[in-house]
Amino acid sequence: MLDKNREWKKKQNPETLTGTQGAGHLPASVAVLGSTGSVGRQALEVASCHGLRVDLLSGQRSVAVLEEQARQFLPRYCAVADETCAADLRVRLADTQVRVLSGAEGICEGIGLTDAPVVVNAILGEAGLQPTLAVLDAGRRLALANKESLVIAGREVMRRAKEKGVDVLPVDSEHCAIFQCLQAGRKEEVQRLWLTASGGPFFGYDRAGLSQVTRAQTLAHPTWRMGAKITVDSATLMNKGFELIEAACLFDVPAEAIEVVVQRQSIIHSMVEYIDNTVIAQLSVPDMRDCVQYALSYPARVGGLTPPLDFFTLGHLDFARPDTDTFRLLSLARDAIGSGGGVPATLNAANEEAVSAFLEDRIRLTELFDVVEDTVRELEPASREAERLPDILAAASCAREMARDRIRRIAEAGPL
Ligand code: MG
Repeated sequence: MLDKNREWKKKQNPETLTGTQGAGHLPASVAVLGSTGSVGRQALEVASCHGLRVDLLSGQRSVAVLEEQARQFLPRYCAVADETCAADLRVRLADTQVRVLSGAEGICEGIGLTDAPVVVNAILGEAGLQPTLAVLDAGRRLALANKESLVIAGREVMRRAKEKGVDVLPVDSEHCAIFQCLQAGRKEEVQRLWLTASGGPFFGYDRAGLSQVTRAQTLAHPTWRMGAKITVDSATLMNKGFELIEAACLFDVPAEAIEVVVQRQSIIHSMVEYIDNTVIAQLSVPDMRDCVQYALSYPARVGGLTPPLDFFTLGHLDFARPDTDTFRLLSLARDAIGSGGGVPATLNAANEEAVSAFLEDRIRLTELFDVVEDTVRELEPASREAERLPDILAAASCAREMARDRIRRIAEAGPL
């Protein structure tokens, strides 16, 4: 029986949670990779709220932020891929016991050295793949926010997790939701996964409308606060496409059994439909800290930082079918699952290049669509044959080159 008064007080002041109810269900320590990014920073908020020791941090470029985090959490290890940034950080942290590791291999070394039972991988992009594999090889629970690990090498990631008996807990709101909904039935009873999408800032736009949008409009997401790369991916629905691939790998279901539905308020984070046509949904205020916390506390639940849902204020929930004619990268992702091999990896690589070019104002949003689609389609016959990880990565690298080339030609053709 819950102590109602205590529950109420807890909701008024979530900070009082530290070291109280549910703390026993959380690991004593945690490692956070990609700690300077949006999800990484939110993972540290969760760690701080529950008084968890942070044993390993890794970040990119923003040395000042990393120094601040290292001084706050005093991890044993801090890994930075860039050698110059690592040297800078070593000087800044000379008066502490923090050991700074450097290079891409420094992050994997840190994973081997840390004693944290859970590693949050919130690294952005393809750079997150090797750390994902290192976490699994080290036999640690993986709280996975780096969706590229699954998009590029989903089969390999899930195979290693199974081999090592390691849990992969998704830190992506939709997959975290599906993971929770799947606990209401058995795998063979699942009929369909309903992956929800906010629709992004350009919901309702047609192709002509999209050709006029600016970078600032693209970066204004209606419901989620996130980094620039994923905000662009949300606006193009590429993010939803990646999430389709991610869901197919994580939950081992065919693409045909996954339906995308626009849920404008981002309150239903996804749903699972069972063979009796019952649908189990997971609802909460949109906040990534919930996903990080659940990945740490699973199978238990603990009180957290986000407020409860207020259905009286919410009033209604809206649903719509996504417009895959306009947002064609979503269909491209679905096709990529069917093609298999290295095709999803080429999709990710071409998109990473095109998003960077868009953020630098070198191409328009509709040109981003063209660059990604043309690159993936051209490489598809060869890249679908890639089976081994080195071949998949080679296909991705080829896509990157080809996309850069297309971007250069578009940029040279004239100013935006
Ligand atoms: Mg998501």
